[in-house]
Amino acid sequence: MDISDLLNNLNEPQREAVAAPPVHQLVIAGAGSGKTRVLAHRIAYLVRTGEVSPQGILAVTFTNKAARSMRDRIETMLDMPVRQMWVGTFHGIAHRLLRSHWQEAGLPQTFQILDSDDQHRIIKRLLKQMELDEARWPPKQIQWFINGQKDEGRRPDHVDHHNAPFEEQMVRIYAAYEEVCKRSGLVDFAELLLRAHEILLHNKNLLDHYQRRFQHILVDEFQDTNTIQYAWLRLLAGDNNPLFAVGDDDQSIYGWRGAKIENIQRFTKDFPNTRTVRLEQNYRSTGTILSAANALIENNSDRLGKNLWTDGSDGELILLYEAFNDLEEARYIVNSIKNCIDKGIPRNEIAVLYRSNAQSRVIEEGLLRSAIPYKVYGGMRFFERQEVKHALAYLRLISNRNDDASFERVVNTPTRGVGEKTVQMIREQARAYNITLWQAAQQLLDDKQFTARAGNAIQAFMYLIEEMAVETKDMPLHDITEAMLKTSTLIASYEKDKSEKARMRVENLAELVTAARQFEHEEDELSELDSFLAHAALEAGEGQASEYEDPVQLMTLHTAKGLEFEHVYLTGLEEGLFPHRMSMDEPGRLDEERRLCYVGITRAKQQLTISYANVRRLHGNEQYTQPSRFISELPKEYVQEVRIKRQAAVASTMQIETASSNGFQLGSRVAHVKFGEGTVTSSEGDGAHARVQVNFDDIGSKWLVIAYAKLQIL
Ligand code: ATP
Ligand code: MG
Repeated sequence: MDISDLLNNLNEPQREAVAAPPVHQLVIAGAGSGKTRVLAHRIAYLVRTGEVSPQGILAVTFTNKAARSMRDRIETMLDMPVRQMWVGTFHGIAHRLLRSHWQEAGLPQTFQILDSDDQHRIIKRLLKQMELDEARWPPKQIQWFINGQKDEGRRPDHVDHHNAPFEEQMVRIYAAYEEVCKRSGLVDFAELLLRAHEILLHNKNLLDHYQRRFQHILVDEFQDTNTIQYAWLRLLAGDNNPLFAVGDDDQSIYGWRGAKIENIQRFTKDFPNTRTVRLEQNYRSTGTILSAANALIENNSDRLGKNLWTDGSDGELILLYEAFNDLEEARYIVNSIKNCIDKGIPRNEIAVLYRSNAQSRVIEEGLLRSAIPYKVYGGMRFFERQEVKHALAYLRLISNRNDDASFERVVNTPTRGVGEKTVQMIREQARAYNITLWQAAQQLLDDKQFTARAGNAIQAFMYLIEEMAVETKDMPLHDITEAMLKTSTLIASYEKDKSEKARMRVENLAELVTAARQFEHEEDELSELDSFLAHAALEAGEGQASEYEDPVQLMTLHTAKGLEFEHVYLTGLEEGLFPHRMSMDEPGRLDEERRLCYVGITRAKQQLTISYANVRRLHGNEQYTQPSRFISELPKEYVQEVRIKRQAAVASTMQIETASSNGFQLGSRVAHVKFGEGTVTSSEGDGAHARVQVNFDDIGSKWLVIAYAKLQIL
């Protein structure tokens, strides 16, 4: 694309922002107004006009997926690969910086990333060591505290605890936690950012180098930056490098995790002569969808306020579906998705969005039954599954024996006779001498401190790791992975177990070998293995292989930020679920939930379907729910309730009800296509809501809606 083509694709204010001289710019504009598009065009423009070479660009986006698509778009526009350009997430870029400068960062070369799950585990262990009661010092709260302090740029020494005993203790735990991480060469997510800031702050030469290198810094989704990210950007921009930030205050949805909406207001103060840009035309959604979104967000106070319009058509009304329960909601959505696909909408242009990860399962099951390929973003992601984490822990130990989190995880997995008592001894030794678990175990072995049995078991484990390290040296990554699965007997231990779950675990481990095989090793600073481990920790599942090119997209509302789809299903609009119950008592948090709803609605290009259920089973118990207040905030004229299905449901129930008076009595034997035969043990409700509980011979008890279950009376 030449320069005039680049600019012709844009409206007037967009073009001005793209072709502006090298000054600071802040683009604050509503959803779908082309912010991300402008950012990508600006990069292409700067490179094309020779203002900067690709390696002088640093672009920060919110997800790895967004970063990849940003790079693709730029390469298409420029018609050349731009590998030297740094395009990534804050975490990804911070990680890259720390890898290149591990010495300056005071880290071992083989440092590993600690995900939230492992962080939790370490904190629990720490509490035990410090003899603190988990009930008084909940690990989650401590995790929250530590990450929050890091997000604000504070090390334990800098936390002001006002001499309050509780806070003082929290700080002590924070300090002890840091000590463990340091010893084991572990870096948690918040630490990546904090340390990436610190090495620039404390290292004049390094800072000079990067300030000279990154002549243009561009940030998408700026409204969700936190304190440390903002400080890092300021540092890199220095006095000379223009910063180009785009965002939308109405889409700020990470306040609960430390994001500072105030960064938008600070920007114009901190960066003098900033050019502020407003975009008002929406190119994404139909008039109806846009009007509904605008009306909803009007209910928030403290907005910068903006006027978003489209010259596209009004499109179809928003569909609203009231389901009896979550299963029926899923069934409706799956049927509706089938219709969309039949109408020719590509599957990856269809998205199902939900507030909580746990909601995805029933929808997944529905899609599975209908053989519709789908992909879940986030949630129980591939790299977070138990068996995959076990396998990764072995790989991490091969790379770094001092990784305490991995040592704990697999020292007795699969079971090899290393008892809790032995591990406890090792922990105590580690604490007493300020060394890692691996070193402690070695010491205890040398000093013959274990009983013969325990000593043999732990010795065997350590040999195993050493043996794997020797055996796999110089192997390609997938061979390392395969050898590790075999030598560790991890895969064999699951193969012994004949349950369905174990079978899935074996499949997942096989999938890990595939993932290793498909892994593209890019960075030269790292070995293939370390690079893969970093990828697993950072991308957590985004790279999971999918058989299908264009699966239906399932994700939480948080993950959907910045994306767009032809047809969007916004599910579970119930009080307590969305808005989330944790947010309902605080006006600030409630506003954030509403912004999340705004984000959800504005993902839709052509059609939006909203649904809720009267009864939902979450975390094991059934709850009767009220429709979300957000539904009533949508003007009636944009919404059409779906009724046809319900009448059909009632009609079919009535047919069955006749049968029910002479059939579904307690104790009746019935058959179900999928669950097999069973006995009716109780019943409740009537009409479309009539349900029976059946104790199936094979799978145990289940509640079924009579209207749908197609039960046959035996
Ligand atoms: P969000 O706030 O959701 O992140 P955004 O402001 O980043 O949205 P984009 O994703 O950049 O918006 O753009 C929304 C859609 O509108 C995209 O499909 C984009 O290609 C299209 N679009 C934006 N500007 C134009 C334009 N001038 N001409 C044609 N299409 C445009
Ligand atoms: Mg965007």
